Amino acid sequence: MRLDAAIADATEALSRVSESPRLDAEILLSRSIDMPRSYLFAHPEDELDDLTAARFGAAVERRKSGEPMAYIMGTKEFWSHELLVSPATLVPRPETELLVDLALREIPRKAEWQVLDLGTGSGAIAIAIASERKMCQVTAVDVSDAALAVARENVRVHAPGNVVLEAGSWTEPVRDQRFDVIVSNPPYVRSDDEALLALRHEPRSALAAGKDGLDAIRALAAECPSILKETGVLLIEHGAEQQAAVAGLLMQQGWTDICCHNDLAGLPRVTAARRNGK
Ligand code: GLN
Repeated sequence: MRLDAAIADATEALSRVSESPRLDAEILLSRSIDMPRSYLFAHPEDELDDLTAARFGAAVERRKSGEPMAYIMGTKEFWSHELLVSPATLVPRPETELLVDLALREIPRKAEWQVLDLGTGSGAIAIAIASERKMCQVTAVDVSDAALAVARENVRVHAPGNVVLEAGSWTEPVRDQRFDVIVSNPPYVRSDDEALLALRHEPRSALAAGKDGLDAIRALAAECPSILKETGVLLIEHGAEQQAAVAGLLMQQGWTDICCHNDLAGLPRVTAARRNGK
């Protein structure tokens, strides 16, 4: 089969599952023939050999079953770093760059601050901050050893030198430390939310957080005051409809200066809070 025909067939096959079926087909095909995407347009008449066609077919089948492109490719770009991802880690989302951006606005360029990323997954947030603020030490915690193995490799490639990984649940491995900035993109989806079906290939533990989706954020609100410096700030990503609930439970725990920030789509997605007594 010719390359252009293979793209057309795969685009058709993926049209129900993907919002960008043609792009997905082109990316999967270029990887199957191990050439850049531009090659597909320069040589549409090239014939696929049987082995390559089988490899491409298998990749299209995975995508057709709803698996994210990032897992099929094994990588996802975040903050211009090409990060490894696996089904043990949430696929980093572009919206989460808002959390990084807000953290960087807090941290002066030459600061030698202690930064903490709770629930780091692939390490995306920790690596983005560490690479922009090389004098800071970033500690990244995750409860999943499989996720930490992915994060370890990403740290080695993208931010060697100023990221330390710790295994444990939320603040548990860092209780004796103090931080200037704590960031987290915790699970925040309601456990009965139908959206989880579309996200079924990603780790449920990174997405779902109890009946109201707030279990993890509740834990962060309760645990973080004791490890945040007096002048420190907490930044938490959450769902667009959770702004009021998140502010409410932060207030209950004595947090002050609670302020929610909108993402590029204009949705309220990251809440900042400071310690009581600032
Ligand atoms: N933003 C994710 C979604 O696609 C959820 C991520 C999370 O729970 N941290 O719904």
